[in-house]
Amino acid sequence: MDARINLVKIRDGIWLLEDDHNGTAYVVEGQKRAMVIDTANGMQNFHDCVRELTDKPLVVVNTHAHHDHTGGNRFFEKTYICRKEYEDANSVLHLPESVGEVEFIQQGDIFDLGGRSLEVIEFAGHTPGGVCLLDRADRLLFTGDSILARTVWMFMPNSVTIATMRKSLDHIDTYRSEFDYLLTGHGVGLDEPTLIDALKDACDSILSGTGRLGETEEIHGKKRKCCYYLENSTLVYDADKIQ
Ligand SMILES: [Zn+2]
Repeated sequence: MDARINLVKIRDGIWLLEDDHNGTAYVVEGQKRAMVIDTANGMQNFHDCVRELTDKPLVVVNTHAHHDHTGGNRFFEKTYICRKEYEDANSVLHLPESVGEVEFIQQGDIFDLGGRSLEVIEFAGHTPGGVCLLDRADRLLFTGDSILARTVWMFMPNSVTIATMRKSLDHIDTYRSEFDYLLTGHGVGLDEPTLIDALKDACDSILSGTGRLGETEEIHGKKRKCCYYLENSTLVYDADKIQ
């Protein structure tokens, strides 16, 4: 495996690939085919990395368009992404130029891998057309950057408002009885679903202007508003994108 990749086996046939401590992709293998969830930074031939794990036909899904999740798209013939994400100009800016064929996914789509299925759940938050993927058989939810145990960036040019993100968190909660753990877009292992509760509380704090609100160190050259939702984790947001 490429030296920049931290490979963690989550279950038989499910692997986490953290790329250079900056973005986490996953491979989920079924009996018929395998899903690649995000393609890392593109610093290595990610197709070769995946082929060290499985020889099954591949279906590649991007949780959202940011380059630390799509950088390796060019090593695959086709990728799936939410139409809302693809049609948003600010998202497309992040997509690598040399992507192959793109196909669109939406809420409720199901990928049957053979013995394992993954269902698409749209999540407007960090980006407008982000998706989570629910693996009911393994009781796992892959979240991309929509839900993270570290800093959640809601100040991106196309991040939705905090009020909209709060609704997305309520929506994901309707699936809560069907997963035991989260696998996030910057994770190093299994994360607890209580992250969802913590983020809901953070959104409520921001919406009401109370709670553990503060200011971050400089991110992208600017100090920004934030809400602490775990010991060392913050939801970072723009003051003009709350309601
Ligand atoms: Zn992102």
